[in-house]
Amino acid sequence: MTIRSVDAGQAGRARARMVDRLRGQGIRDERVLAAMQVVPRHQFVEEGLAYSAYDDTPLPIGFQQTISQPFIVARMIELLRIGRELGKTLEVGAGCGYQAAVLAQLASEVYAVERIRPLLDRARANLRPLRLPNVRLKLADGSLGLSEAAPFDSIIVAAAAIGLPQALKEQLAPGGRLIVPVGSSEQRLLLVERQGNIFRESWHEAVRFVPLLAGTE
Ligand code: SAH
Repeated sequence: MTIRSVDAGQAGRARARMVDRLRGQGIRDERVLAAMQVVPRHQFVEEGLAYSAYDDTPLPIGFQQTISQPFIVARMIELLRIGRELGKTLEVGAGCGYQAAVLAQLASEVYAVERIRPLLDRARANLRPLRLPNVRLKLADGSLGLSEAAPFDSIIVAAAAIGLPQALKEQLAPGGRLIVPVGSSEQRLLLVERQGNIFRESWHEAVRFVPLLAGTE
């Protein structure tokens, strides 16, 4: 079965069912739900997995990495957005580019960094047909942030850190928010909000992410 054999109508209906399920799971932010309704997730996974693309499950994207389950993508973005817009956003761990495409619907600018070059190339190829003018992809170790484009209103980390990466905290704009899975065998989402030079932290869902690694390859 090829991606092309998933026709647009079928994919749209599968996405509508995914969005209904996300609502049932407690996602309340209608803009997040609308963004997930428009991004063709099946075009970001390997051809043989296109039919599973809208299930609530993580999927392999090669190089021992996974695309997060739709609920976690929605939940992380929802937490960043409560009471505000995303603004200029950094995504650490672009993977196949899916989450960058969702963020592009909601953020003024998206800088998505990835440490594995062939994955970055794949993200670029996956995003090209969507013609999203506000997304920039870059090969970089995102645990150091992206100083050339800092500060950011929002930072979303798609890999699990052992502790809160200091560089990311420092690259938050005043009023900015950062969400990062923290932990090794047990991980939780940590939301950090900067108010002046005070950083307020709150813990959310238990999650399972691949590790945030140093360097590029
Ligand atoms: N958000 C992605 C899925 C991310 S999987 C998507 O929508 O497809 C986590 C990704 O983080 C992997 O691709 C992994 O290579 C990347 N990663 C891990 N540590 C990183 C780091 N320090 N800098 C940049 N990317 C990193």
